[in-house]
Amino acid sequence: AAKNAGKNQLVLFTSDLREARMERTRLTAALRQAVRRGELTLNYQPVVDLVTGDIRKAEALLRWSPPGERPIPPDVFIPIAEESGMIVPIGRWVLERACADAARWYARHGIAVTVNVSGRQLREEDFSDMVLEILARHGLPERALILEITESMLLATTPAEVRRITACLDRLRRHGVRIALDDFGTGYSSLSYLRSLPVDIIKIDKSFTPAPGHAEHDTMRAFTKAIVELSASLGLETIAEGIETPEQAAVLQQLGCPLAQGYLFSPPATAQQLDGLLRSVPWRQAA
Ligand code: C2E
Ligand code: MG
Ligand code: MG
Ligand code: MG
Repeated sequence: AAKNAGKNQLVLFTSDLREARMERTRLTAALRQAVRRGELTLNYQPVVDLVTGDIRKAEALLRWSPPGERPIPPDVFIPIAEESGMIVPIGRWVLERACADAARWYARHGIAVTVNVSGRQLREEDFSDMVLEILARHGLPERALILEITESMLLATTPAEVRRITACLDRLRRHGVRIALDDFGTGYSSLSYLRSLPVDIIKIDKSFTPAPGHAEHDTMRAFTKAIVELSASLGLETIAEGIETPEQAAVLQQLGCPLAQGYLFSPPATAQQLDGLLRSVPWRQAA
């Protein structure tokens, strides 16, 4: 009986695998079509000053809503775009779109735009040329663009590749483009990456956001405090992600974290909605 059960499990397992593979193939084809038809859009989530409430930056977040279907989350379609190589043209489009929108926001409000980039994009020989060309064409100062990279991006890269990516980021930074380390704390060796990567901003992952009343609040608070202090002593800017309640915002402000983003301030919004937010929210200082 035990032997049979094992066999059945194996059958189930392989059919699950086959189904997952078919779903993946289906999604890859659908994504390719969506790109061709221009069905991808960008949302923007404000990054706010925790003291004044002013919007300082906006993070561009990709959205894919196939007509008549429920939206497919980036956590599902970005990996597919990466594996198929589609992330290279998609990422170029994201930069184009974000810089076009940012040109307006930067001129009127001094707002910088932050764009997520995949390791696959950074490994393209002409990545830094492309970024600088897009900025120039949209008349956007380099300072108005922030690129978000993650530690996990560097997993499974050879030391030579890491050196090449670092050189690429260094070149962009010399031109004034800033680099943010996204999801900080969730990688395997956050501290060693922080030492070797050229970075201007640390984004504390939302899993570290202390929620008052939760069992692990004190531990989370201690971690967050340490990250905020480390970041400040390295002369970096810090953004806390995933702020959902006023209590969380208060804790982060108390810990000296200058900037935050999260549903409390605004969910990711359309470019048009952000135009409205920027008109209604008072702002004082440039990004
Ligand atoms: P991320 O860069 O860490 O983006 C933050 C994610 O947290 C976004 O999820 C955002 O909608 C979500 N979020 C914002 N505020 C809150 C909050 O208060 N609570 C919670 N629970 N979540 C919040 P989203 O839009 O689903 O994106 C997921 C990930 O997909 C991003 O994580 C990023 O890694 C990737 N991604 C999105 N757009 C792009 C893109 O254009 N290029 C690349 N390469 N990756 C992208
Ligand atoms: Mg991000
Ligand atoms: Mg993040
Ligand atoms: Mg992420």
